[in-house]
Amino acid sequence: MLKQKNLIFIGAPGAGKGTISGVLLEKYPLVHISTGDILRDEIKRDTELGRQAAGLMKDGKLVPDEVVAGMVRARLAQKDCDNGFILDGFPRTVNQADLLAAALKDLGRPLDRVVYLKVDDELLLQRLTARQGCRKCGAIYNKLFMPSKKPGVCDACGGELFQRPDDSLETAKNRLAVFYKQTSPLIEYYDRQGKLLTLTATDKDELVALIEKELA
Ligand code: ADP
Ligand code: ZN
Repeated sequence: MLKQKNLIFIGAPGAGKGTISGVLLEKYPLVHISTGDILRDEIKRDTELGRQAAGLMKDGKLVPDEVVAGMVRARLAQKDCDNGFILDGFPRTVNQADLLAAALKDLGRPLDRVVYLKVDDELLLQRLTARQGCRKCGAIYNKLFMPSKKPGVCDACGGELFQRPDDSLETAKNRLAVFYKQTSPLIEYYDRQGKLLTLTATDKDELVALIEKELA
């Protein structure tokens, strides 16, 4: 069992936050809170928030801090987060981290650990531009590194695989630049709090084993 279970995953786009979260969720009753997934769902349902976010996301820009922090706070307030949670893709700015700290304090949910998945840019871009997701169940594949058995079809549910519009080379490069400029200061922020765990492995199973060992 994981002892430390109130977690943040930090990493550039393509670092594997979603993939590693997926493996951990199969084994532990953690709640997965991905701001990217919540925003994509808002876009799909064509809500007011979705319409606002769509243009920003298409360019690889960040959605305003207060908006994402409000979404996360509402989700963290739910009872099932008692079992622990993985914040994936949030916080992404120092201001978001401050807003999160306030929310966690109010909710009485202390943060245990921040896992930083550190991956070279070249590999990140290769991964992003070859990434595919399942329309039906959200499983993640990669044409180069983690292909589905049958091209274009999800192994888990038979759903159709597609490329996210923001995984084009141009937008992926923008998102990397945004990560270094706006998100990477969080690495030092959490290191100063003694909460940072930096992992440089790139193999999925190896990463999961390291996380289980370090958070036990
Ligand atoms: P990735 O980690 O692969 O970049 P995400 O699915 O986490 O992908 O995010 C996709 C997009 O959603 C981001 O480029 C950004 O526009 C928006 N977004 C997601 N999370 C946040 C956040 N915490 N703050 C601001 N914008 C966000
Ligand atoms: Zn599927």
